[in-house]
Amino acid sequence: MSQAKGVMVFAEVAEGKLAAITTELLGCGRKLADDLGEELSAILVGSEVSSLAQETIAFGADKAYVIEDPLLQDYQTDSYVLVMEKVARQLAPQILLMGQTSIGRDLAPRLAFRLGTAATLDCIELAIDPESKRLLQTKPVYGGNAWAIFTSEFDPQIATVRAKAMSPLERDASRQGEVITLEADLDPSAIRTRVLEKVSQEVEGVRLEAAEVVVSGGRGIGGPEGFKQLEELAKLLKGAVGASRPPCDNGWVPDVLQVGLTGKVVTPELYIAVALSGSSQHMAGCSGCKNIVAINKDPEANIFREARFGVVGDWKKVLPAFTSKVKELLAE
Ligand SMILES: Cc1cc2nc3c(=O)[nH]c(=O)nc-3n(C[C@H](O)[C@H](O)[C@H](O)COP(=O)(O)OP(=O)(O)OC[C@H]3O[C@@H](n4cnc5c(N)ncnc54)[C@H](O)[C@@H]3O)c2cc1C
Repeated sequence: MSQAKGVMVFAEVAEGKLAAITTELLGCGRKLADDLGEELSAILVGSEVSSLAQETIAFGADKAYVIEDPLLQDYQTDSYVLVMEKVARQLAPQILLMGQTSIGRDLAPRLAFRLGTAATLDCIELAIDPESKRLLQTKPVYGGNAWAIFTSEFDPQIATVRAKAMSPLERDASRQGEVITLEADLDPSAIRTRVLEKVSQEVEGVRLEAAEVVVSGGRGIGGPEGFKQLEELAKLLKGAVGASRPPCDNGWVPDVLQVGLTGKVVTPELYIAVALSGSSQHMAGCSGCKNIVAINKDPEANIFREARFGVVGDWKKVLPAFTSKVKELLAE
């Protein structure tokens, strides 16, 4: 019988604050820990992250572990895998949660391999099986066309969780918890890569992954000019513009706007899909959206099977009318 206990959240930091995904993981981790009758801990890894320990407690953790080392300033696979392997062996969590971010996607499988366990990536629901007390890990499969539930008989049960799939708890600064510092003991020679330069991507307006509204265009938009109309609507709705693969491949919009299997996964409240067919590869990036509205001239287009509301018609006629109605409503 495994001695593993408790739920641990790998706490990512963004621009000196807890990343949104971390607060979401803490909210979900709190519920799992309560269902197991065990503790929720957070692990902060970095170079100057100790000031955020109390913040993880305010968002639900019972304990915050902190590992600081100048070698951990930037995420690097070698250093973070070494540190997290040590943490997992020393603290033996039963469940380890990470974000489905570039870091989580890199770290989780490598860690699982080293610890002789499994990692389920891109979960959208997590729960404790009332009988077995094992973690039920739900994730979309077949390009988002079905959901599958996984369990693992090995500990730690590692899962990465999709952004906005879970809700954070209300921040409570009065929550009490314990902060524990651990040593990194890193051997610099074990780190085979160096960060030479960091280049931030300039984003005008709302970031696609964080947007509550996404207006996405497909091949049917026909060129870069058409995307200006999508931008106008996105701006009015305080949202972001996305795209299917063809507009990116054709250079109509930057590659970073691609939504889908090989692009970004978005989960806004409202996804307006304009002149895109709704291929399974595209839907893999937006099937978690709360409300999909489709505009397409082909009534047989797959997107109408996924959409809550749909308009069959030429987007060049439908979108201006839609945008002017939005303007009218916003002006009221
Ligand atoms: C390994 C792999 C990974 C992939 N990854 C991705 C990915 O991440 N994201 C992605 O999007 N795709 C991805 N693809 C490509 C994917 O298979 C589809 O080819 C792509 O999503 C189609 O884009 P689309 O819907 O814009 O174009 P189409 O399928 O050509 O659809 C265009 C739609 O526009 C409609 N239309 C045309 N003119 C008008 C008009 N005037 N008014 C209204 N409607 C109009 C048409 O009726 C049609 O439904 C991937 C493919 C592979 C093989």
